[in-house]
Amino acid sequence: MKPAPFGYVRPAEVGDAVAELVRADQEGGGKVLAGGQSLMPVLAMRLGRPATLVDITRIAELQQVQVADGELRIGAAVRQRRIERDFGGVVPLLSRALPWIGHREIRSRGTVCGSLAHADPSSELPAVATCLGATLDVIGPYGKRSVPAAEFFTAAMTTVLAPVELVASVRVPLPSSGSGFGFAEVARRHGDFALAGVAVSVTSREGVPRSAVVTAFGVSDKPQRRDLTRQVVAAVNAVGPAPEALTSQLVAATEELADEVVTTEGDSSGSPAYRRRLISALGARELARAFNSSMERSTR
Ligand SMILES: Cc1cc2nc3c(=O)[nH]c(=O)nc-3n(C[C@H](O)[C@H](O)[C@H](O)COP(=O)(O)OP(=O)(O)OC[C@H]3O[C@@H](n4cnc5c(N)ncnc54)[C@H](O)[C@@H]3O)c2cc1C
Repeated sequence: MKPAPFGYVRPAEVGDAVAELVRADQEGGGKVLAGGQSLMPVLAMRLGRPATLVDITRIAELQQVQVADGELRIGAAVRQRRIERDFGGVVPLLSRALPWIGHREIRSRGTVCGSLAHADPSSELPAVATCLGATLDVIGPYGKRSVPAAEFFTAAMTTVLAPVELVASVRVPLPSSGSGFGFAEVARRHGDFALAGVAVSVTSREGVPRSAVVTAFGVSDKPQRRDLTRQVVAAVNAVGPAPEALTSQLVAATEELADEVVTTEGDSSGSPAYRRRLISALGARELARAFNSSMERSTR
């Protein structure tokens, strides 16, 4: 199939992009075009028929990446591959998650903010942003607003964005000393969307866990963030930090987590019970791994 006819504009300024979205909203609806890796298939299958595409990729302001004030700020036109290649290690959880997104060709076109705006429940970046407490900078005709990632995603493929707003950038906190991260997912083939996955962030000081957060994805209509600090402290007290023993000790806690967060219906790729097992196993393993790496980082 081919897309239904649409208009195309490529503004040079953010203000002009917003003005185009407002105009399009009054004349049959508009859509921001970033990397096009999700939007173009939607149009080709005629699942969406916007009257106008507002291409934001030539807006210089949105192509910027900055490390400042304890944050990595990623503009809306910045490709996933650029962060993977040039900013690897600045935010370790991002570096771990990015290679799981499709294939390199997809990441060379797809943008970080586009993935967030698209809000696929099986996507890696919404989970990472939610896990790390990232903030999205949104611009619309009434001005700017900052939205915490935890409030940005409202349901599958749905966010708080109004049709006349765009995400201008996302700000991801830089890791503090004593922080460690884990990321894992299971997909049918490499490059496929995840059947289930976890993003994990742990902080510790002098061998004691101070915080432990797990964000599960692919198992619900949006990323599911849970605080497991109490459970990780209890497990470390019981068996110490060795990854294998700690993983086994954490399984009861992550089984409970999985019971709570897996709400998706089964499909041909996996039943809810299978997805619960994945979240439990991956969650326990990545928590143990993140805690161990947090101890290494706190002693550097
Ligand atoms: C074969 C294939 C495999 C893939 N595998 C994965 C995968 O494993 N994991 C994964 O997460 N993704 C995967 N993707 C999707 C890919 O990551 C996309 O690049 C991403 O989801 C969307 O980013 P984009 O820049 O291409 O956005 P686009 O396709 O341009 O836009 C997607 C949607 O977001 C909106 N949008 C984009 N940018 C903004 C903005 N700044 N403000 C407001 N709205 C905006 C658009 O209007 C549109 O509705 C895959 C894609 C393909 C084709």
